[in-house]
Amino acid sequence: MTRSSGGDCPHGFRGGWLTGDDAHRAAGRISGPFRLPADAKLSWAEPRDLDDLVCLLEWSRREGRPLIARGGGTGMPGGNLGPGVVVSLQEGFGEVRPARASSDGGGTMRVGSGVIAGRVEEVAASRGLTLPCLPSSAPWATIGGMVANNAAGARSFGHGAIHCWVEALEGVDANGTPFRCSREARGALRGEGGSTGCGADHGLEGRMESWEPGLLPGDPDAPPWPSLRKNSSGYALDRVAGGGGLLDLLVGSEGTLALLTGVTLRLAPAPGARGVHLLPAATSAHATELALAAADLGASACEFLGRSFMEIAGLEEDPVVGTLAREARALFLLEFEGTPEEVDQALDRARELGAGLDGPGIGSREPELATALWELRRGASPMIAREARRGRVSTQFIEDCVVPPEQLGSYLEGLEQILAEADIDAVVFGHAGDGNVHVNPLVPVDEADWEPRVRRVLDQVVSLVTELGGTLAGEHGDGRLRAPFLQRIWGPRWAREFRELKEHFDPEGRLNPGVILPLEGQDPLANLAPRPRSWPV
Ligand SMILES: Cc1cc2nc3c(=O)[nH]c(=O)nc-3n(C[C@H](O)[C@H](O)[C@H](O)COP(=O)(O)OP(=O)(O)OC[C@H]3O[C@@H](n4cnc5c(N)ncnc54)[C@H](O)[C@@H]3O)c2cc1C
Repeated sequence: MTRSSGGDCPHGFRGGWLTGDDAHRAAGRISGPFRLPADAKLSWAEPRDLDDLVCLLEWSRREGRPLIARGGGTGMPGGNLGPGVVVSLQEGFGEVRPARASSDGGGTMRVGSGVIAGRVEEVAASRGLTLPCLPSSAPWATIGGMVANNAAGARSFGHGAIHCWVEALEGVDANGTPFRCSREARGALRGEGGSTGCGADHGLEGRMESWEPGLLPGDPDAPPWPSLRKNSSGYALDRVAGGGGLLDLLVGSEGTLALLTGVTLRLAPAPGARGVHLLPAATSAHATELALAAADLGASACEFLGRSFMEIAGLEEDPVVGTLAREARALFLLEFEGTPEEVDQALDRARELGAGLDGPGIGSREPELATALWELRRGASPMIAREARRGRVSTQFIEDCVVPPEQLGSYLEGLEQILAEADIDAVVFGHAGDGNVHVNPLVPVDEADWEPRVRRVLDQVVSLVTELGGTLAGEHGDGRLRAPFLQRIWGPRWAREFRELKEHFDPEGRLNPGVILPLEGQDPLANLAPRPRSWPV
């Protein structure tokens, strides 16, 4: 990058610095459907190393300039784009240390926060290890971005989201003080003694120790905490209440409490065998039943493709799954891991489960069929891009809602009704077993009233999700899109607790303002700019 000589570059900063149109061009390279107006004041910084990042944070404190952490830019809800200085943490924090074996047969690996997730998997695989929560965006998303969003992947159904795989975090707090915190030493709150897990005399540790949450999940007078298999909305007070510490609070904090520079990951041993089974669900009640049964069957993944996905993808004509797709309301893809014998037994049980509902489906341990079935699921992005060329632009604004799995059918039915009333088609698929549904509405941008229709859909989906006890983000985070709904989803008491927490850790509100917590009058659809995007959607 050419370093800009003029503008507002901090004194002593050695990394790349862009302003004006150059900054807009660099910052605008995101997967989400947002774009800042050309007159928004924006700079782009690429710190070279930790010292450079500290310099930037100190400058931001002096100048009162907001900082927006940026990894790979694949985040959906606008957390990676806002007015201020977009801080790209990809270039300066790309170190990969070799994976180390651990006594449980797995391993650990320390990487810079800017390392691409797919690279971690490559290095892990060379040692017979794997990062099981790898997202579909692994070729582009950074580990820092994943941690910041508490990202997950298809196999998180069996193995949990990334919060289960983080052993230690390094970074810099709002004042520019570096920290490191680890999982072994967990936080102690409310005078229980112990350490927060951070190195001595560091700012963030002090703040953790002086943080006195007014309310934690499980407190006798606390409102219910959403009962979900996964969640990346709000702050993880549930994990803190369960004995977690600063590390647990930072995972999923979307760049609003600290900027992450390094992550130590736990890795699992790669399984001996995998098998995949595809089952049809003819009704939404059966969809719910399959989602619940998948956990009992010990599946590592439980994905689904909705009716609209099958129609738009033309699956009815597919030589392998055509018959199933013609009759199903949804197709369920279950994956099993273990020894070859264990996988065969699990596939038999999946077949029996299907036979008792809408048909035994098809499945195998053979890599060819497993790959072909996974490819159906991975066909979402190209399909979405194709529709954009026909004037229906996939616009992610309700793309990550999560409900308790027992409410999956009710959510799908409610969603279908809302979209039908607005006359908007959508590609629907996702992590059925976790109750996490990806909805990509195909917005007819050539029709003059697309925006009020989008607003109505968003408002109605927020009401539906609230009714069903879910949140708007299973793995993508709240960003700027969902922040204005924080109070509606979480209720006033949790929303207040989240605000107090943010004010405690970032009193001047310089780290990603408007993300998770809304700014005064924040419009969820501000800067929404549906457009065909060539970069990963
Ligand atoms: C095609 C496609 C498929 C996807 N599939 C999945 C999937 O399977 N599972 C899933 O969970 N998500 C998925 N996503 C969403 C996205 O990839 C994830 O949210 C990912 O975690 C974002 O990582 P990133 O490096 O791109 O972060 P960015 O988009 O750059 O940033 C995301 C958020 O994290 C913050 N952040 C980034 N880096 C740091 C840091 N170092 N320190 C502090 N804060 C930081 C940003 O401020 C922002 O709030 C997909 C996206 C696309 C485009």
